[in-house]
Amino acid sequence: MRATTDRKILVINCGSSSLKYEVWGMPKRISLGRGLVERIGELKGRITQKTPRCELVREVQVPHHKAAMELVREALTDPEKGVLGSLAEISSVGHRVVHGGEQYSSSVVIDDDVLKAIEKNVELAPLHNPPNLIGIKEAQAILPGVKQVAVFDTSFHQTMPPAAYLYGLPYELYEKYKIRRYGFHGTSHRYVAGRAMEMLKREPENTNVITLHLGNGASATAIEHGRSIDTSMGFTPLEGLMMGTRSGDIDPAIIDFLERRGYSSPEVNALLNKKSGLLGLSGISNDLRDLEVEAAKGNQRAIEALEVYAYRVRKYVGAYVANLVKVDALVFTGGIGQNGVKMRERICHRLENLGIFMDYGLNASLGSGEGIVSSPFSPIAILVVQTNEELQIAIDSYDLVFGADAAYRRRSSDVTL
Ligand code: ADP
Repeated sequence: MRATTDRKILVINCGSSSLKYEVWGMPKRISLGRGLVERIGELKGRITQKTPRCELVREVQVPHHKAAMELVREALTDPEKGVLGSLAEISSVGHRVVHGGEQYSSSVVIDDDVLKAIEKNVELAPLHNPPNLIGIKEAQAILPGVKQVAVFDTSFHQTMPPAAYLYGLPYELYEKYKIRRYGFHGTSHRYVAGRAMEMLKREPENTNVITLHLGNGASATAIEHGRSIDTSMGFTPLEGLMMGTRSGDIDPAIIDFLERRGYSSPEVNALLNKKSGLLGLSGISNDLRDLEVEAAKGNQRAIEALEVYAYRVRKYVGAYVANLVKVDALVFTGGIGQNGVKMRERICHRLENLGIFMDYGLNASLGSGEGIVSSPFSPIAILVVQTNEELQIAIDSYDLVFGADAAYRRRSSDVTL
C-alpha cells in the first residue's frame, strides 16, 4: 500500500504519576505537538503542551489518569492553542509499554489477548505495566474504534540467544518464574541503530553496532545484522551499567550482607535504585553536569564517580566487541551520550586497542549535535545520535495499522528527524 495520505498518530507514554503524549504527522514524520501531564494523583497537577506555534500551560488538580486523559483531549483540541481540529483526526494510537515478557518480539495492534498479556506481565514490571495499561484503557475510552498499538521496551531484545539471556541460576527459576534477562530501552536502541545505518548509508543486514543509551537510566546493546544479541539491563533495569541513581552490576551477596545488618528489603531496593550510581558515589548529584562542574574544581569524589561511570561503559563495549564477529559502529545517545562531550571522551579514551579511534576535536565541536566523531581511519565509526522513542512508536503504529511503505522508508534518510 502506498502511503500517500497524511495520518495523525497519537503517541502515549503513561507512567504512574505522569502522562507524556505527542502527535505525529505520518508518513512525513512531523511532530505536530507534544505535551506532559504531571503530578497525577497529587493536590497540584499541571499540563503543558507545545506546538510549533505556541505553548499551553494549565495548573489544575489531576486526581487520576481518567482526568489526565480528559485534560489531554481538551488541550489537543483547544480552539486557540490546540494541535487538532477534533479528536476524529487521530487515525491510530501508539503506546509505550514497558514489559512484553517473552510473548512479544515486535510491536502489536492491541486486542483482548494483548491486554491480557500486558496484565500478566505486571508481575515482571509492577511499577510500569499497570499505568501503561491504564493509558491504553483511557485512550480506548476517548477514541473508540481507533486502533491502538503496543510498543514494548523489551521486544527488541527478544532476539537474544539463551547464552545471553539465561542467568547462571537453577533452570527451574527460569521455567517457573521466567527469571531471565529481558533488557529495556529497546525502542531507543532500535531507533538509534536505524538512524546510525542511515547516517552511515549502510543496510542493517550487513552491519553490526554497539549502542549506548546513556540517560538517567543507561544501557548498552550489541546489535548484529539489525538484531539485539545482548544488552546490559537484565531481569529489571537495575543490572548493567552504573546509572544516575542505580548501582548497575554489583555482587548480589551485598544484598544479604546489608539485610543481615538491619537493612530491610525495601530499604535495600531503594538504596540500589535511588541512592546509588553517580549520586551515591559522588554524594553530590545524579546529574552529569553538576559532577563535571565539581570535577573541574578538583572534587575527588566527583572525579572518581565519573571514572567509574566511564570504566563500566568501556567494560561493556569490550564484552560486546568480543561477542560480535565484527563491529562497524559505536553509537552514543541519551542525555549523557548526546550532550556529555567530556564523558564521551573519557569512555573512548582507552578504546583504541579495540579499533575505536575518536577524533577528540570533532567530538568537542559536535557538542550536542548529531554526527560522526571518529577519525577517518578508525575501523569502527563512532556516532552521536539523538534518540526519539516517540517517533519510533509513531512509525511502528503507522506501519502496523496502515502498512509500511518500503519505498518511503528507503527515502527516509532525506527526512529531518
Ligand atoms: P532520562 O533517562 O530521564 O530520559 P535523559 O536521557 O534526559 O534522562 O538524560 C539525563 C542525563 O543527561 C542527566 O544526567 C544530565 O546530566 C545529562 N545531560 C543533559 N544535558 C547535558 C549536558 N548539556 N551536558 C552533560 N550532560 C547532560
